[in-house]
Amino acid sequence: MEQKQYIEIEQRLGAHNYKPLDVVLARGEGVWVWDVDGKKYLDCLSAYSAVNQGHCHPKIMKTLMEQVRKLTLTSRAFRNDQLALFYRELCEMTNSHKVLPMNSGAEAVETAIKTVRKWGYQVKGVPEDQAEIIVCENNFHGRTITIVGFSTDENSRKGFGPFTPGFKIIAYGDAKALEAAVTPNTVGFLTEPIQGEAGVIIPPEGYLKEARNICDRNNIVLILDEIQTGLGRTGKLLAEEHDGIEADLTLIGKALSGGFYPISAVLSNTEVMSVLQPGEHGSTFGGNPLACAIGRTALKVLVEEGMIENAAQMGAYFLEGLKQIKDPKIKEVRGKGLLIGLEFYPDVGGARRYCEALMEQGLLCKETHDNIIRFAPPLIITQDTIDWALERIEAIVRG
Ligand SMILES: *Cc1c(COP(=O)(O)O)cnc(C)c1O
Repeated sequence: MEQKQYIEIEQRLGAHNYKPLDVVLARGEGVWVWDVDGKKYLDCLSAYSAVNQGHCHPKIMKTLMEQVRKLTLTSRAFRNDQLALFYRELCEMTNSHKVLPMNSGAEAVETAIKTVRKWGYQVKGVPEDQAEIIVCENNFHGRTITIVGFSTDENSRKGFGPFTPGFKIIAYGDAKALEAAVTPNTVGFLTEPIQGEAGVIIPPEGYLKEARNICDRNNIVLILDEIQTGLGRTGKLLAEEHDGIEADLTLIGKALSGGFYPISAVLSNTEVMSVLQPGEHGSTFGGNPLACAIGRTALKVLVEEGMIENAAQMGAYFLEGLKQIKDPKIKEVRGKGLLIGLEFYPDVGGARRYCEALMEQGLLCKETHDNIIRFAPPLIITQDTIDWALERIEAIVRG
């Protein structure tokens, strides 16, 4: 079938809840993907950082193939021989005490919200149904009704109300605003260490540390959504390490499977997670043996193959290269590790056409919020490939 036929069928039969670039991919390996005509592209999005380990990583694939022949799903009504090992390895790696496995990122966020609310009533002593959670402007935490209810993006919210109460929205990166929003009923502060979807927004130096202190002083659970920033993306296993802090709840997903399977998890200290009792929360597929086996190998290769260090080194190199493209259309280039945003001035007319032009040149990336392009290739990218990408990006931006 030709590309345009695939596109026509998708348009006709599918919900139009995405506006993808018109490239129909059929194969992937490492940092590269191929379309149905065999044209090769560099993937600079990595499925929104779900493919940090590179497409079809051979070791993760091997694990999947082996586990799929043995056992895929038991439900949590019974135990399986992968869950305990997944817990142990994940806790050791991330310095966590407890894990709750789910499937999608949004489910991990919902799980955290339920958990801190219960903690608020049971441990902190907040009056029934009065718990408040503080979140930030321009957040992205997923797509459920509760989550879009505390989004500030009109596209995400409009037409989907009524929404879940109990959330307070403050400016991102503003510790004073956080302090001012705290009440005796505040149970949690939920934020991203870097706002990825908002366009790679990096908060001021020391912000997370101050947030940590404010949460400590007021007995508030600090929840960091590291679904995009975690698992090596910013050059550390978790982005919180850049600030030398530890969240009480950390949410991971996306690259937890290296792109093979939807897996997410809430990582917790003992006190908060211990409020959940049998029957109070769950998921049919959460913690299934196939997911756990894949997750274990996905984590292992991140460390064993030096991907996190590579993200730090190659990220710095890529960022510097982009900064050297001095063009009056570029407002700012910013990033940490291999999570990089290139922002155009608003009068440039949007980043989409640059993404389309780059696609023609064999480089796939996606605009976020009209004027920003996010560059987030798999963490295994090499310097030569970055040079190749920079040449094309410079030509397109200048052209
Ligand atoms: C992708 C993402 C989510 C939602 O994950 P899904 O798997 O799409 O539900 C939540 N938070 C952040 C920061 C994300 O990047």
